[in-house]
Amino acid sequence: MKILVADDSNVSRHLLSSMVKKWGYEVVSASDGTQAWEVLRQPDAPRLAVLDWMMPGLTGPQVCEMVRQKGGDAYIYILLLTGRTQKEDVIEGMTAGADDYVVKPFDQQELRVRLRAGRRIVELQDELLSAREALRKQATHDTLTGLKNRARIREILADQMKIAEEFRSPLGVIMLDLDKFKLVNDVYGHAAGDAVLIGASERIQNVLDEEDAVGRYGGEEFLIVAPRAAADLAALAERVRSAIGAEPVASGTTLLTVTASLGYATFCPNVEAETLLRAADEALYRAKHNGRNRVEPGVLDGCTPA
Ligand code: GH3
Ligand code: MG
Ligand code: MG
Repeated sequence: MKILVADDSNVSRHLLSSMVKKWGYEVVSASDGTQAWEVLRQPDAPRLAVLDWMMPGLTGPQVCEMVRQKGGDAYIYILLLTGRTQKEDVIEGMTAGADDYVVKPFDQQELRVRLRAGRRIVELQDELLSAREALRKQATHDTLTGLKNRARIREILADQMKIAEEFRSPLGVIMLDLDKFKLVNDVYGHAAGDAVLIGASERIQNVLDEEDAVGRYGGEEFLIVAPRAAADLAALAERVRSAIGAEPVASGTTLLTVTASLGYATFCPNVEAETLLRAADEALYRAKHNGRNRVEPGVLDGCTPA
């Protein structure tokens, strides 16, 4: 773990640096408070810091305050080194945001175990952060395909509708449903069906641009939200259709032919999400009815898209 050692006395800094290096830390050093802040404000800053109280530029407590004000996800554990022993001084240092302090001249073993406690806090916080990240991913993504789930893509649609409404910019949705997918499950088994879902997801993602979004809307149904005008949206739907059917998907040694039907609809101001999605869904139904593996445009009554 990286650690910042900030002390304006060369002798103390070198002593401290070699000490913590011996304990297995990777040392970054600073010779005054300003330098210490420069290091700690970086995105990949050390998560542990030992700051001398009295330093030119900024004092240890001042650096503490700035670090706490900056905030951010990755907590920096700060230990102050102080020659001061008055209770008021300790209160001042801790109020500034220090986590702990050691009075100089300090005992090596004491500093070592106190740093170990700090390290534990940092590691615990990292575990919490990754657990939170995993939960967030779980709540917004589909586990089989890794695509956004229904709730998340609906949220994106709502956000995009607000933008389109405000700036009168183009927006469209594409509903996609795999053709005769039940047959894949029935004939080749559920695992083969899953492989087709994953393969189709990859192909959809490959043809989308960065500003487009796709989510798994239901079993074998996908929703694409794209800030594009009608002609562009139709062209995208066609590219997706063609990409999905271009080659069979492999499941083990079995090659499975897969095609999809698509319906799209373009957004108009004051149109509800449900209405927009229904138009795309009706178009999709027509694509199925007209022979599958095709794209159909949706119709919104009395609508002039941007
Ligand atoms: P159509 O061309 O009219 O859309 O026919 P279809 O067979 O694709 O449509 P249908 O709605 O009859 O069947 C959808 C099937 O998708 C039924 C369901 O078992 C399957 N399915 C839904 N989710 C999953 C999944 O996560 N994995 C697998 N393997 N199958 C799934
Ligand atoms: Mg289907
Ligand atoms: Mg379906």
